[in-house]
Order: sequence, then structure tokens, then C-alpha cells
Amino acid sequence: GDVKEGAAGPTPMMAQYLALKASAPDCLLFYRMGDFFEMFFEDAKAAAAALDIALTSRGEHEGAPIPMCGVPVHAAEMYLARLIKAGHRVALAEQTESPAEAKKRAGSKALVGRAIVRVVTAGTLTEESLLDARAANWLVAVANVGGAYGIAAADISTGRFEVVSLPEGALDAELARLDPAELLVPDDMAGAPDEAIGWPRDNFDSLKGETRLKSLLGVATLDGFGAFGRPELAAAGALIAYLERAGQGSLPFLQPPRRRVIADHMMIDAATRESLEITQSQAGTRKGSLLDAVDRTVTGAGARLLAADLSAPLTDTQAIIDRLDLVELFERDGALRDRMRGTLRALPDIGRALGRIVAGRGSPRDLGQLRDGLDQGYALHELLRRIEPSPALLVQLLPAFLGHGALVDHLKRALVPMPPIDAASGGYIAEGYDAALDALRGAGGEGRRAIAALEAQYRDRTGIASLRIKHNGVLGFHIEVQAKHADPLMAADSGFTHRQTLAGVVRFNAPELHEQAQRVDQSGAHALAAEAAHLEELTQAALARTAEIAATADALARLDVASALAERAIEGGWTRPQFEPVNCFDVRGGRHPVVEAAVAASGERFVANDCTLAEDRRLWLVTGPNMGGKSTFLRQNAAIAILAQAGSPVPATSARLGIVDRLFSRVGASDNLARGRSTFMVEMVETAAILAQATERSFVILDEVGRGTSTYDGLAIAWAVVEAVHDMNRCRCLFATHYHELTRLAERLDALSLHHVRAREWKGELVLLHELADGPADRSYGIAVAKLAGLPPAVLGRARDVLKRLEAGKAATGGLAAGLDDLPLFAAAAAATPEPVADPLRAEVEAIDADALSPRDALDLIYKLKRLA
Ligand code: ADP
Repeated sequence: GDVKEGAAGPTPMMAQYLALKASAPDCLLFYRMGDFFEMFFEDAKAAAAALDIALTSRGEHEGAPIPMCGVPVHAAEMYLARLIKAGHRVALAEQTESPAEAKKRAGSKALVGRAIVRVVTAGTLTEESLLDARAANWLVAVANVGGAYGIAAADISTGRFEVVSLPEGALDAELARLDPAELLVPDDMAGAPDEAIGWPRDNFDSLKGETRLKSLLGVATLDGFGAFGRPELAAAGALIAYLERAGQGSLPFLQPPRRRVIADHMMIDAATRESLEITQSQAGTRKGSLLDAVDRTVTGAGARLLAADLSAPLTDTQAIIDRLDLVELFERDGALRDRMRGTLRALPDIGRALGRIVAGRGSPRDLGQLRDGLDQGYALHELLRRIEPSPALLVQLLPAFLGHGALVDHLKRALVPMPPIDAASGGYIAEGYDAALDALRGAGGEGRRAIAALEAQYRDRTGIASLRIKHNGVLGFHIEVQAKHADPLMAADSGFTHRQTLAGVVRFNAPELHEQAQRVDQSGAHALAAEAAHLEELTQAALARTAEIAATADALARLDVASALAERAIEGGWTRPQFEPVNCFDVRGGRHPVVEAAVAASGERFVANDCTLAEDRRLWLVTGPNMGGKSTFLRQNAAIAILAQAGSPVPATSARLGIVDRLFSRVGASDNLARGRSTFMVEMVETAAILAQATERSFVILDEVGRGTSTYDGLAIAWAVVEAVHDMNRCRCLFATHYHELTRLAERLDALSLHHVRAREWKGELVLLHELADGPADRSYGIAVAKLAGLPPAVLGRARDVLKRLEAGKAATGGLAAGLDDLPLFAAAAAATPEPVADPLRAEVEAIDADALSPRDALDLIYKLKRLA
């Protein structure tokens, strides 16, 4: 087809293109033309820019040239990866028939039929080359129904599928945990995250969702899967609809959805994750994150599970202890640990191989991976079942390795040891599996041997030593001689038929060759068809065990995580945390794994510190010079809380901890100046969130809060925040500050205790000891730190003069903290807020007996209240 058009409107091809494009308006359309995917119009411009390839034009549309660019089909995957990374979605329109078929169907001028066979998006990938082996790839849908939120999340590369219901305030934290590759929200949802894709609201209908979920699970009722809420059904429905579109009707791998209960996990909001650099450093890399410092896993699935564990630490003590018991088994038994890790290291990623097979994109190699992975799993079972006493989690995991014997046997007999990714050229079914296939291959082999023999015969017969029998796609087998030798073969009675003359060589056929060639080609085609049929049958055999294989993959990942944590604990001298039923936090000799590694790399020693929060000293105020180690101390304790509840040993000599329900970390604004937001505003918004959400079981670290504004404002805010945390939230809290004045709070807040990072001046030089001590810092070392940082001597001298004057003035005026001694207590101040004057609206509200109201009464009441307002 051509793209040129006359006055009659678009050419048939352009009309077909535009129709396909109209059905996928939010995607770039890859339009298959022979060996290329072509893009036109705006798509071409966007793709050419993103891929840095040439933009050309072809034909005209509505009087203007049509911009065009293309990528070769064989390299399409690489280009797809780059487009997806750049935030695009791509619809693949393939040819659904060959030109010959089109001709047969509709005459010589017929246009080849095309259809969109797949929509590729960041959240719907299964290709190994497009995915990060060590990270999950979540497609997430958020629905809001009647003030509550539902989240559905699927990682179709492994079939993981979760739903959860949330109150409004928890949405952020949950999305931060998942870190979606792609996020769908109703297009009219207020306050949706920037990166979200708005999708028409009717896709988020909870009734439709219920129907979709039932049909996905093949059940008439969802009762057996737990009670799904309306928001969960709405989100799950939208997610399934989106996946159906991506697969053009066929669904990828989804396990039955697991309902997550928010309270089962430590709540960690987005700002806290970012500031603690749990799975990503602030620079956005894995390197420099807590995860990276902990991760010693040897499989992709293990790395993904560890990331998930650290992102969602548990709150159930028994579940944590179960994980720790398994880790301890591998800590105690080094030989077991080494064997386990050795076996796992060689293990293929069966979870993702299964994902591709279920999505209909499985290769012979994927089946080979299942065979090897399941087989190794069984070998591990043999190793692990003898362990006495067996940790509870291990007892729970072991059955997952059994029951695959028949499938593994079948795959072992059927497949060659190293099956290829590409099925098209065959060669993956093993010899001896199918006698008919072996016979076909035998015939083909005989044919090829006969052809080799013919080459020698023809050389003898013609006396041309350089005569060759070759093969190509157009001519098939043929005889080739140099042009100078060709004449005798051209003779009518030579026994050779001329096929082709090229520069320098001439090609011939011969009856015996033709006969053998046919034998080779036919047996080859039949063999390919036989292999394809076996591939389909093996695929079906694997699909019949989808759920069991997924369970094996999960169990292998859990063993990898446990043995890797054991390895890490031994390497770093980490300890097993103990849990107490009270709100304590008693860590001795604690360290920060990331800072420790950095400090060690520069040849220094990390100084371990204790943190002993208890009910009666639950708020620690940490003062001391800049660069003294305050931030590090705060973060290491937050990191220890995360690791412990994720079921990991912790970098300390001992740890006795009370379970943390919510973790908060905030860093004063000036550290974030590069962001270009109103940083002080952000700092205050985030601080407000903590004051609103922290409970007595929460753990809060506040680092220089109040720093983002003027000195007086900052001190005042920091003062008020410390009081509120102490009196209202009553949570465990570490508060680092350079406002020395805050130490006066110790006199009135009974659960507040004072600490400082030690420093010493030695021969005029400041020495930071990075060691925590009780009590307030004896003095401020600002000028000494400035000297350390290389401020010129003249400036330092001037600063000393100014300081002297300020300090002299302070004696007279009381300084920055003047007047603070007379401040009433926070609780008293809050209580002293004057009672509001008589308020009819309030009186009316207080009089409501909510349980006695019918919906109708409630509506009437709302109108009445509106009138009062
Ligand atoms: P502050 O918050 O008091 O300004 P930081 O915690 O940012 O100080 O620490 C500054 C630097 O000091 C760190 O980057 C690290 O190199 C070093 N440091 C911090 N804590 C320790 C420690 N416990 N042992 C050794 N070095 C440390």
C-alpha cells in the first residue's frame, strides 16, 4: 500500500492506520510494515525525539507531508524499552495475514489486515530485557468510593496481586511503599499524584469490578477470598480492565488477590521513606540506600522480596519471630548456608519465566527454566527436611517444593538441556522423546549427508574443484561455480539447470540435488511443526500447575532472603532483636550500615552508640555541633526499627524493642533547598502530619525541625513541637537540634532526656568524636566547625569578635531564650484556650444521636445544619 492520497481522502492504508490509532489514542502506534514498525504524525515526532532516530516523511495527508519514522522489528524490544522509560505507552499493530493471504481474500490490490495485538506500558511488562531483575514492577489502580480508598496492585511479571482498603490519610504511604511503575486513577479524582494516569470513572465501578474479579477467578461468589470492600472491588476492576486492554482481551498472569490489612505493617509515609533512603537514595539510585547496604541475596526473586520486606515491616511479633528463627538457622549452620546460597545462585527466575508463559509469551527457554528451578527446589527440600528442630516458617515452606515431579520428569525428557529463547528454528525438543520427530530429523540428516556427497560427485564429474553446494532462503539448495567455470554446465546435456547469474558466480540446480533438497525441506518443516505441537503441550502442562509453581518461586525467594540476612549479620556482627510488650527502644552499640560502610571506606572507624528510650525517657533531645553525628544517630535507630520488624538481625550489640506501629522521619528544610519548593512550608506540612498521626506506639525522628525559618520563629516552632510530641503524641522520639535553648525544656517535661554528641578542642583544632553522651552540650562549636570547613582566618577572627559581643549582650538581656522561663506549660496553655461563645450549630451537633438516625433523617439534618452555618 502507498500513503499518497488523492482528492478522495486518505488512502486505504492511511484510513486503516487512522482507525487503529483512534482505538489507542493515548499510545504511540507501532504500525507493522514488513520488517519495520513505522510511526506517523505526532507519534513519529515524539518517538524520533525520544529515540534519537531520523524523522522523515512519506506521502501527504490533508495536503501536508506525513512525518514518519521507523524501527526494525528485530530491534524493536530495545526501542520499546527506551520509549517506556521515557513515559510512553506503545500499541503494537501487527499484520494479521500475509500479503498472499490478503490477495487471496480480496484481490490483487488488497491491503494487508492489521490489528493491535498488544499495548505495552510500564506496568504491563513481562520481557526479561525490559524489567529490572531485582525490583518488583507494580501496576497500581486507586479508586475512591464514599470517602474511602481502595488500591489494587499487580506485578504481572510474577502474578502477584494485592488489594487494600485505606482511610484517606494513608494513601500516600501505601503508594510510596509500592512505588508503582504505572498508576491509574479515576480521571475526576481530586488530589491524585502527578504521575497518575486519569482513566474514565466508569472503569472504576465496584459492581463491574466484582463481575470482573469473579470471572478472573472463575467463581460465582467471592466469599472464599475474604470480604472485599467496595473501594477494593472498584480498584481491582479497573486494574483488570486495563490489563485486558493491554493484552487485547487476554489476561496476563494474576494470582488470586491477597487482601492486605494496613495495620499488619509498620506505616511509613512517603517523606519518611525518602529521608531514610530505605530502598532508594535521595539521588534516586539503589546504591546508597539501606536496602543496598543490607542486600546479600543471590536471586532476582530474593532481591525483590527483600525490597518488599524492608518497604513493609511487620507489626505482628510472632510473624517477625518466625522470620528471625529462619535467619538464625542459617546463621548457626554455615555449611547449610553455603550450600543454600550456592544452589540458589544457579537458580533461574522461575516466577518471571512463569509470568511470560501465562502471558502467552513463553519460550522454550522459559520451560527449561521451570524444569531446572523446580528440580533444584526439590533438591533443597531433601536438604532442608532433615533439619531438627525445624523452624515454623520452614515447616510452612517445605510443601511448596513437592508435587512437581511429574512435570519436571516430563520437561526433562522432552527438552534439550539448554533450550533456545527463539522457538522459530526448532531444535529444543530432545532426541528420544518422539520417535516420529526423530525419524523426520533422521531423514533430514540423511538428506544433508546425501547433499554433501553430491558436492563431491559433482566436483569429480565437472573437474571444478571450487564447485560448492550452498543454501539460501530464495533458491534453497543450489550449486555454485565461478563464472569462468560456468560454460560447460550451461550446455543442454550437462545435467545441470541454470538458475541465476550474479557478478562472478553462476548458480545451478540438478535433479538429484532437487530430490534430496525436497527431502530435507519437507522433513524440516514437519519436524518444526512437530516441535511446535510439543511446545504447546508442554506449555499446557506447566499452566496446569501455575499456582503451585508460583508458590515454589515464593518459597525459594524466602529462603534466599533468610540465608542472605544470615550472611549479612555474620559479615557485620549484627544481632538478633528481642521484642518487648512495652514501648521501649533499647539499642546498645548501634550503627548505621550505610554510613558505617562510607566511614570504613575512608579508612576510619564508625563509633557505635546506645539509644535507650523507655516509657519515662521516651523523648531524647540531641544537641551538639554540626557534623557531630546527630543525623546519623537518629537515622540508624530508625533503620534498626525497620530492619528488626522486617525480620532481620540489626547492626548493634543488643536490641530490645517494643513494636513500632508508625515510623516518621523529618529533616529540617535547609537540607532540601535544592528542591526549589517552599521548603519551610513543606517542613511544616510534614511536621503537622506527624503531630496528627503519631500514636504512643510510634517512633519519630525529627532532625533540626524549625531550621527553615528565622532564628526566633525556628526556636519557637521547635519548642512547641517538642512539647506537643511529649504531651500529646507521647511517642518515642529523637529530636536533634542546634538550638541549645531547647535544653531548658528538660526542667518541665518529665519524659524528656538530654544528650549530646561529643566534641573537643585540641590544640586549637576541633575534634568530633561522634560519640553520644548524657546531658546538654557544654557549648556551641559553630566557629570551630566553620574553621574545619575552611573559612578564611580573617572571617573566623571577625566572627569571634561578633560572638563575644553577642554573648556580652546576652548576659544583660537573657539572649534568645529570654522570657522562656515564664512560659506556661503546653498542656496548660492548650487548656487555657478560651471556651467558644455559645454556638447554636455546635449545640445542635452535640445533641445528635447518630445511631438513631435513618438515612432520610440524616439528610434532613444536614440541611438544617447548613441553614445554621
Ligand atoms: P550532624 O547531623 O550532627 O550534622 P551527621 O550525622 O550528618 O552530623 O554526620 C556527619 C558525618 O560524620 C557523617 O557523614 C560521617 O562521616 C561522620 N559520622 C557520623 N556519625 C558517625 C559515627 N558514629 N562514627 C563515625 N563517623 C560518624
